[in-house]
Amino acid sequence: MNRRRKIYEGKAKVLYEGPEPGTLIQHFKDDATAGNGAKHEIIDGKGVLNNRISEFIFTKLNGLGIPTHFLRRVNMREQLIREVEIIPIEVVIRNVAAGSLCKRLGLEPGTQLPRSIIEFYYKDDALGDPMVSEEHITAFGWANPQELDDIMALAVRVNDFLTGLFMGVGIQLVDFKIECGRLYEGDLMRIVLADEISPDNCRLWDVKTRNKLDKDRFREDLGGLVDAYREVAQRLGILVEAENALTTGPRLVQ
Ligand code: UDP
Repeated sequence: MNRRRKIYEGKAKVLYEGPEPGTLIQHFKDDATAGNGAKHEIIDGKGVLNNRISEFIFTKLNGLGIPTHFLRRVNMREQLIREVEIIPIEVVIRNVAAGSLCKRLGLEPGTQLPRSIIEFYYKDDALGDPMVSEEHITAFGWANPQELDDIMALAVRVNDFLTGLFMGVGIQLVDFKIECGRLYEGDLMRIVLADEISPDNCRLWDVKTRNKLDKDRFREDLGGLVDAYREVAQRLGILVEAENALTTGPRLVQ
């Protein structure tokens, strides 16, 4: 019965035509990739958790008046979203040094940054998503200066909200990546938050133990990725204990 028209398939998600014009279905797969696809594994239950975590965050952001593409979750792996024109830029917001920033600038992982730093990467798999500046973005017309201002303002608001949300449950938001899109409503165009926000595109460290509760568990072969994502969902109050079974495979009933 899966005769929907596939619009796009990425590494971790598929987009299908939605039930009404201007909508899409965003489907979360269990695929995990790193190193621009060089490393690939199927991790049972990851898609279900990311769908729930991203739904939770986008619903809260919508409630705060931060515009997003999210409409509602439709099932365990899928959500209904508004169709937007994706801006081909990955926006990374950093609060603490980690990952590529440490390599680039020789910083010790975990160093608190003097202030939050926004970086831009051009979305191009063949080029390995190179880092670009505002100059590149406006010169090549990927976004105009007004749109870039809107994107940065959105990024700061999302960072403020997420930092507090996670701090409240004993998790430090080290950094994260967002994507934005143009939403056309009649003659009006607005920049809205698109894609997903989940442990796949955030670095989340337990405040007490410093344990990593994000995709670095996969990137660094630490194991326990689904357990870590489930821990994030539970702390946010999304998953209650009884629901754990839904995110794992068949279980023996005692
Ligand atoms: N990130 C992402 N997708 C990418 C690259 C990075 O979601 O293609 C996220 C990553 O999870 C981290 C943040 O952006 O939370 C910063 O990543 P970084 O530039 O340090 O890259 P990495 O070390 O992952 O290569």
